[in-house]
Amino acid sequence: MKILAITNQKGGVGKTTTSVNLAACLATLGQRVLLIDLDPQGNATTGCGIFKKEALPSVYQILLGAATLEQATIKTEFGFDVIPANRELAGAEVELIDVGQRERRLKEALDGQAYDFVLIDCPPALNLLTVNALAAAQAVMIPMQCEYYALEGLTDLVTTLRKVRANLNPALEIEGLLRTMYNSQSTLNQQVSAELESHFSGKVYRTVIPRNVRLAEAPSYGKPVIAFDKTSKGALSYLALAEEMLERIGGAPRQQEVAA
Ligand code: ADP
Ligand code: MG
Repeated sequence: MKILAITNQKGGVGKTTTSVNLAACLATLGQRVLLIDLDPQGNATTGCGIFKKEALPSVYQILLGAATLEQATIKTEFGFDVIPANRELAGAEVELIDVGQRERRLKEALDGQAYDFVLIDCPPALNLLTVNALAAAQAVMIPMQCEYYALEGLTDLVTTLRKVRANLNPALEIEGLLRTMYNSQSTLNQQVSAELESHFSGKVYRTVIPRNVRLAEAPSYGKPVIAFDKTSKGALSYLALAEEMLERIGGAPRQQEVAA
C-alpha cells in the first residue's frame, strides 16, 4: 500500500484537482484507491459528487477516535473510495491539543488497510492536519505552478519535511513534483520549470498538467474529469501521470532483482 500526501502549503496550486483526478485515473487503471479529504474546505469531497454537509462520519470523527475508517468510507461511482471532510474539521486542531499521539491519529486509522494507493488531499497550511498526513505517508507529491515564488515556497516545504523526518517519520520521501496549470508558451513557466529540474532532478514528473478549462469545470458537476470529458487534455494528462507513477513503482523491484 502506497500512502501519498498531496501537499503544498500554497493554496490554488492544484492539490485537490490532482487528488481527485489521480484517484479516478489510478482506479481506471485497475488500482484500489482511497482518497482522504483532509481539508476543511471539503473540495475533494464535493468534487467526487458527495454532499459534504451530509457526510457523516467524516475524517474529523476518525481523527478524534469517534469513528473507524470503515465507518467513514464512501464508495464512489468512479471506482475509488473517499473519506469525506467538511467545515467541522477546522476545529480538530484545537480539539486534539489534549489528545496523546495527536500527530499520528491518521496513521493509526490507516493501519491494516489494503488499498494499492491512499491519496491524502492536504489543506493549504503546514498545520496539525498536514502533519497528520506527513506522519501517515510514505512520500509526498507536490503539485506546483511554475510561477515566480514557487521555488521559495518549495524551500519552506522541504524544511518542514526535514523536521517531520527528524521527529515523526524518518522514511518520508519526496515521491515527485508535479507541474500544474502549465502553459508551454509562457517564458516564465519554462524558466521556473528548468530551475525545478536542475534542483530536483529525477523527482520532477515527466508528465505536465496543462491549464485546461475542463479540469476547472468538472468539480461543479461533482465528477473527476475522466468521467466528465474523457478526451479532454486534462483527462489525458492525469491518465498519463497515473501511468507514469505505476511505471516508476513497477520499475523499483525489478532493479532490486538485478542488483541481487
Ligand atoms: P488547491 O487544492 O491547491 O487549493 P485546486 O486544485 O483547488 O488547488 O485548484 C485551484 C483552482 O484552479 C480551482 O478552481 C481548479 O479548478 C483550478 N485548476 C486546477 N488545476 C487546473 C488546470 N490544470 N487547469 C485549469 N484549472 C485548474
Ligand atoms: Mg484544495
